[in-house]
Amino acid sequence: MNESVRAELRKELVDLLGESKVLWSKSDLLPYTKDTYRIRFEDDHRYFPDFAVLPETTQEVQGIVRIASRRKTPLIPKGGGSNRTGMLVPIYGGILVDTIKMKRVLEVNKPDLNVTVQPGITLKELDDHLKDYGLWLTQEQGSLKIATVGGAISTSGFSRLHQKYGAIANRVMSLEVVLADGSILRTGPKVLYTSTGYRLHQLFIAAEGTLGIITEATLRVEPLPETSDVVMAFYDDFWKANEAAQRLMASGVVFSGAEAYEGHGLDRLGAPEGKTSLIYVLLHGIRGEVEAEALFVKKLVEETGGFLARHDVAMTFLDVYTEQWCGARALTGFEDVITTYVPMERMREFYDKLWNVIAPKYGIEPLPGEKYSLDVGRYRMAGGRYKLPKGERAWERYQEAVREIAVLATSFGGSIQSCHGVGIQHRENIALEYSDVALDTMRNIKRLFDPDNIMNPGKKLPMKK
Ligand SMILES: Cc1cc2nc3c(=O)[nH]c(=O)nc-3n(C[C@H](O)[C@H](O)[C@H](O)COP(=O)(O)OP(=O)(O)OC[C@H]3O[C@@H](n4cnc5c(N)ncnc54)[C@H](O)[C@@H]3O)c2cc1C
Repeated sequence: MNESVRAELRKELVDLLGESKVLWSKSDLLPYTKDTYRIRFEDDHRYFPDFAVLPETTQEVQGIVRIASRRKTPLIPKGGGSNRTGMLVPIYGGILVDTIKMKRVLEVNKPDLNVTVQPGITLKELDDHLKDYGLWLTQEQGSLKIATVGGAISTSGFSRLHQKYGAIANRVMSLEVVLADGSILRTGPKVLYTSTGYRLHQLFIAAEGTLGIITEATLRVEPLPETSDVVMAFYDDFWKANEAAQRLMASGVVFSGAEAYEGHGLDRLGAPEGKTSLIYVLLHGIRGEVEAEALFVKKLVEETGGFLARHDVAMTFLDVYTEQWCGARALTGFEDVITTYVPMERMREFYDKLWNVIAPKYGIEPLPGEKYSLDVGRYRMAGGRYKLPKGERAWERYQEAVREIAVLATSFGGSIQSCHGVGIQHRENIALEYSDVALDTMRNIKRLFDPDNIMNPGKKLPMKK
């Protein structure tokens, strides 16, 4: 952007928002150069936005979009910055719209179990607010303290309680969105169920800020459960824990969420020697229901040769696990995470190829105890974590490995990303799971909403060859 255009833009933005809500110095913009995706190592802080702005209202967002739209300047909406695929990297500069000041809860409608909020409120802040009304959102992401409502919708965030409560994609009732020309779209009535109209709000789920800026969301919430419980058990290896997981999923019992994984240091949780893996099953509901479900799961553990963890240990573990997940597991910058979907009958084959063929070929190494994990339930996300390669051609080897993992998952009829979206990391890889016609349809939708391609350009969709 040339200096005279930058000066004009700065004046217009300051006239609209005031000096304190417009950032332009290099030092103020440094935190906006990247998100938790490790871009090419030497490029880490290469991409600066020209401005970052901190609007508080829909009208201010509208004003910003109108200014950008007149000059065809890129706009990048930002929530908590916790995405893992480079969705916020300002590769073409432009105006980064930070929603950190848009945190207001606009309405809590208890009889109809819904809430209307601004997009910048974090999932944790929203739950803290709802608690006073005896309600909760149920969107338990590992990043719930930093991820915002706008970010969770725009990435189709995964919740570990999805089996019983679904995830954010199932909770969006209506959205207010500022479109690329500055007009304000209300996607439909504030209802969860209707058969009228095209379901426009669905287009913004997982849109990664490429179709417009969400300025308000109405979401379905739930009454806080009377009680909750957890059953945790240790197994000799992941595949034995997986057997329990498969039986649980086939049983029809209504658990809220569950995870089976290979862990390390399980002795600290009271696991007998030789047990390398665990499963935990979360239960929420009314007392009698939860007690009956816990009994059912314990019997299943017994039948599959598991070793039940002490109840108090399981309860404490779960609290700590949720509270510390962000800090403890996000070694971002040095590791990457696989969150893929593969059909259950191909999962073993997937992991065999992943760790025995792909990993040694590109020099990627699983983090201790992070080789296998399955989010048990409807979404069945199979994952793992690995250290980024080091040494010669480290970046290229990392990209090649990611690509090969994507090819493997899609060759089984799976998906390369259950919940971390596309961003820049998978921009070219998604062509593996969508046909040309599907991709062209997406491009046409993008063009309809954003003819000048100013909304988070260069993300989500592959470049046209
Ligand atoms: C430790 C850790 C744990 C994680 N655990 C989970 C997990 O359990 N489940 C899961 O799904 N993900 C998880 N993630 C990934 C990440 O937290 C999610 O993708 C999250 O939903 C992103 O929200 P955010 O507010 O941080 O969005 P950001 O990273 O700020 O933005 C993400 C995308 O949303 C767009 N966006 C943000 N706000 C708006 C808006 N108002 N209007 C339009 N577009 C907007 C941005 O442009 C960008 O494309 C985890 C990440 C970390 C670091």
